[in-house]
Amino acid sequence: MTWWQIVLLVVGINWGVPLLAWLYPLPMWLIFKDFVFDGWHGPFAKFRLATDKDTDDPIEPWHANAWRGWGGVGLHWYMCYRWHNPRTELHEGGHCWQQLACGLMWWVIYFVHMGWIVVTQRIKGKPYTRHAYLDSIWERMARKRAGQPVELTPKDWPHGKKDLWPWW
Ligand SMILES: [Zn+2]
Repeated sequence: MTWWQIVLLVVGINWGVPLLAWLYPLPMWLIFKDFVFDGWHGPFAKFRLATDKDTDDPIEPWHANAWRGWGGVGLHWYMCYRWHNPRTELHEGGHCWQQLACGLMWWVIYFVHMGWIVVTQRIKGKPYTRHAYLDSIWERMARKRAGQPVELTPKDWPHGKKDLWPWW
């Protein structure tokens, strides 16, 4: 392979593989009807959970459990949320722009950076001062864009001072 073929391959993988992200919302919208198309955020599609006809509450399909307590998720080309909230839209739209700029590398940077925070905090020992998720550069940028508080101290962490990592 010549150098420019390698460059094309790397660029193709970095921005081509994220097209697979469409495999999540399209069937949920078009086939299973769990999602309702909710318009556009710049170039990014918005999907919200379908609501119960009687109570108007979002119907929580099995796959929405994977969002945990989050109001929404931004994945490359679209965002999906339980119900529309302007701050959630701005926050998740921020992640979409980040992912458009970085492609697949966004995930590498996200988890390497998170891991770095965990490792350095474990070495430093308690009390922990940085949160793996809340102090992520990506999350700080998204919160700033959405007008959400950027600087958070351990007392603001959802599960208190012991909360270093969002998944345990
Ligand atoms: Zn976020």
